[in-house]
Amino acid sequence: MGRKRSRKMLNGADKQLLRVMRNSVGAVMLGAISVISAYGTPSKDAARQGYNIEIVSIVKSKDVFITIDDGWFPDRKVLNLIEKEKIPTTTFLIGDALQEHKKFWREYSKYGSIQNHTLSHPFLTEIKNSEARYEITADQKLISSITERVPYMMRPPYGAYNKNVTYDASLSGIKYVVLWSAEVPIGKDGYVREPFRIETFDAKELKPGEIILMHWDPGLYGAFNGLLRVVKEDGLKIGSLKKYLKK
Ligand SMILES: [Zn+2]
Repeated sequence: MGRKRSRKMLNGADKQLLRVMRNSVGAVMLGAISVISAYGTPSKDAARQGYNIEIVSIVKSKDVFITIDDGWFPDRKVLNLIEKEKIPTTTFLIGDALQEHKKFWREYSKYGSIQNHTLSHPFLTEIKNSEARYEITADQKLISSITERVPYMMRPPYGAYNKNVTYDASLSGIKYVVLWSAEVPIGKDGYVREPFRIETFDAKELKPGEIILMHWDPGLYGAFNGLLRVVKEDGLKIGSLKKYLKK
């Protein structure tokens, strides 16, 4: 129960952050240049490691991209749909959730991409550097252990990152901090709100290049089907993030 309660709090915080980000990311959304680069802490160490991480919230592409976060509520129906319809998805998986549902995530990894969302979902900007580093590297190891691939994308919980976080992430093999530009709003009960809609940063209709955020919530199946309906109606295509964000 404790976990469920804390997840609800996280969702609330996620939404609050989304509102904040709508303002700060606005500048990025306006320009044709949709991928920005963050270079920080130019120490000798960083130079040696080739520290260079791109922060991505929208992709220059005709496709839209489905990303699904966390992982506490794995859903076989969603996996079957992904498998049957060959829908590219990227899951930003919490290490603790991976350990609790290992079999499912191993299975998912055959059809979808699993990337870093830290071990236990803290605000990386509010803990010690050493702890943040551990959160990232521990998730790298767990994910590699079931997929045999080292993640190279990370979504920091709540989208919260700073130079220290990106530096540590780069040392762990992360090349992209992947944020998002659209979300399927979910109610407090974890189920999709009616009438179904997609919330975008620019408050406009979903458009090519957008990265859509969903969660492995109890209502994911409904949210997923709603999203597929909108994508079809709008004549959009779902793309693979890996194709555009190369290793
Ligand atoms: Zn999350």
